Amino acid sequence: MQVENQYVKLPILREKQVVLAIKREDLIHPFISGNKFRKLKYNIVKAQESGHTKIVTFGGAFSNHIAATSAAAKIANLEAIGIIRGEELLHTWLENPTLKRAHENGMRFKFVSREIYRQRDELEFLISLRNEFGDFYPIPEGGTNDLAIKGCEEILNPSDTEFDFICVCVGTGGTMAGLINASGNNQQVLGFPVLKGDFLSTELKKLSRKENWSLNPTYHFGGYAKINEELVHFINRFKQQTGIPLDPVYTGKMMYGLLDMVRNDNFAPGTRILAIHTGGLQGIFGMNLVLHKKNLPLLDV
Ligand SMILES: *Cc1c(COP(=O)(O)O)cnc(C)c1O
Repeated sequence: MQVENQYVKLPILREKQVVLAIKREDLIHPFISGNKFRKLKYNIVKAQESGHTKIVTFGGAFSNHIAATSAAAKIANLEAIGIIRGEELLHTWLENPTLKRAHENGMRFKFVSREIYRQRDELEFLISLRNEFGDFYPIPEGGTNDLAIKGCEEILNPSDTEFDFICVCVGTGGTMAGLINASGNNQQVLGFPVLKGDFLSTELKKLSRKENWSLNPTYHFGGYAKINEELVHFINRFKQQTGIPLDPVYTGKMMYGLLDMVRNDNFAPGTRILAIHTGGLQGIFGMNLVLHKKNLPLLDV
């Protein structure tokens, strides 16, 4: 599947003579959006080919991965079980737009404490899940595994070699690894981590096959799903100016960082940048509930 690149016009880009296009992976599907479609594609095929009828995966309360997996499993006619971080959600999950929609897609949930959730990659935990649910095809949190990276290698098209930089926001690094593998040697892949901490460089070295990449760790806004008024205003203004919606957890932070770098002359005049819109727009509804509780301005929908 090939997705179009949309060129963005903003005064700062004209002033700095930087070309910016956005690959609209967010338009692939409202819930199996962007990189989650790419990451699930070969995993769903493998689950079916190996005769599984059930998939189990892991995520937080507003997880794009949970949203996407529920919708993809429904289309593929697979049973889906989500192991969800946070016992307290057992009583409130119907007020959570992500989980409500995933449930409507047929996903069943098991809510676990943060302590148990931390054991999600351990063999013992997987064995206990098999005892509870029977045989299943496991997909890790965030969906990152070898097949996910293979799927993400399909984000770039042959004509994308005209760009000097490929930019992407980074959670686990699976999407960025796919982009690195598919990039040309004359291109730089620039990642914007949305989590605090410096585990990602090590991870990316393991996951990718090339060295033409770097990370800018400046724009996490305090950590995963942390957001402030400035970011809300930025996302709303960007949508007004370009018509392109961004999500508050991932793509909003990347675009904020990218335009800040343009403003600070981090790119030479004439540089051509392709930013990947990895999707995640379903998360806006959940984030607006959080913003409302904190009396902060809301994201435009
Ligand atoms: C999950 C997600 C990411 C992070 O992808 P990784 O492969 O884990 O780095 C980026 N953007 C959006 C919108 C996502 O939902």
